[in-house]
Amino acid sequence: MKRPRILLIYTGGTIGMVKQPETGTLKAFNFEAMAEQIPELKLLDCDTETVSFETPIDSSDMSVSHWVQMVEIIEGSYASYDGFVVLHGSDTMSYSAAALSFMLEHLAKPVIFTGSQLPIGDLRTDAKENLITSIQLAALQEKGVSLITEVCLYFEYKLYRGNRTTKINAAHFQAFNSLNYPPLAESGVSLEVSKHLLLRPKKGKALQCHKKMDPAVGVLKLFPGISAAFVESVLKTPGLKALVMETYGAGNAPTGDWFLQLLSQAVKNGLIIVNVTQCSGGSVLMGHYESSLALENIQLINGKDISTEAALAKLMYLLGSGVSTTSFKTIFETALRGEMQ
Ligand code: ASP
Repeated sequence: MKRPRILLIYTGGTIGMVKQPETGTLKAFNFEAMAEQIPELKLLDCDTETVSFETPIDSSDMSVSHWVQMVEIIEGSYASYDGFVVLHGSDTMSYSAAALSFMLEHLAKPVIFTGSQLPIGDLRTDAKENLITSIQLAALQEKGVSLITEVCLYFEYKLYRGNRTTKINAAHFQAFNSLNYPPLAESGVSLEVSKHLLLRPKKGKALQCHKKMDPAVGVLKLFPGISAAFVESVLKTPGLKALVMETYGAGNAPTGDWFLQLLSQAVKNGLIIVNVTQCSGGSVLMGHYESSLALENIQLINGKDISTEAALAKLMYLLGSGVSTTSFKTIFETALRGEMQ
C-alpha cells in the first residue's frame, strides 16, 4: 500500500510563532524550518511536506485574498497529495474553514484546519497533539480512498465540520465548539470517526475551485436599546449587498414600526438580509413568535441553524458566483456543504 502524502500549509498563527526577546510579543516564524525540528513527524505512517505563506500572518489579518491563496495551493497540489492540513491562527479559523468549504466544491480529499493556543516550541504546548492528530485524520483511508472528504477543523481532541465551528474561548485549550453539529471524530486512545456524520463527495465530479468571494457583506448584531440612526446607517452602508442580522433566540427582533420599516425599505432597495441567531446553538424559527413573523413577511432569508461565520462566507460565495436575486433566498436556505440543517 502506498503511504498517504499530506501537505501542510502554514498560513501563520500561534502554532508557528516565537516570542520576540525585545518585546515579549508573539510573531509568526518560518514554519518550514520549525517542522524539521518536530521528530514526531517522522514517526507517522504517511509522508508530509510543508509549504508556507510567503509572509505568515496573525489570523486577525485574514482576508479574501489569503483564502484565494489557500485555495490555489490546494488546487495546484490536489493531484499530488491525499490530504491537506492548514495551520492557521485560531482567531479567525472558523471564518476561513467556512470560506474554504464553499470555495472548494466537490472536494474528495480532507482539508483539515488546525492551530494551537500555545506555540509549538512551548513546553506546555497543545500544538503537537493538534498537528499530529490532524495529519493522522487527513491520512485516514479506506480501500485506498480518503475517508474524510470535507473541510474540517481539529482542535483539542475533536474533529468538527469546519463551517459549523465558532471560537468560544481565548484561554482554554478547547477553543472551539460546534453546537449545531456533533464532532465528526474524537481522539482518545484510538481515533473514533463517526462515519455516518461525514459528507460524501458526489461521484464523478471533479474538484471545482471558486475564487470569487464578494466581500460586500456585513453583520448587524441587535441589542436592547439599538437606535434607529444606528440601524439606518448600517443598512445604508455604501456598496453593501448583503447583511447577516444577528437576532435574539429563535430569530426574534424588535417589533416597533421604525425598525420594521427600515428593514422593509432596505429589502425593497435590494439589500439581502439573513436572519441568524446570536445564540451559539439552536436555530432560527421564523414565525414561531410574533416578534419574528414580521421578519418572515418582509422576506428576510431564514438562516436556520447556520453560524454567523458560515453565513458571511456563504453570502460572499453566492454573491461572488453571481446568483440571481430571484433565486438567492432559495439557494441560501439550502444546505450546500452541510453548513445548515
Ligand atoms: N492571534 C493568533 C492568530 O489567530 C491566535 C492563535 O493563533 O491562536 O493568529
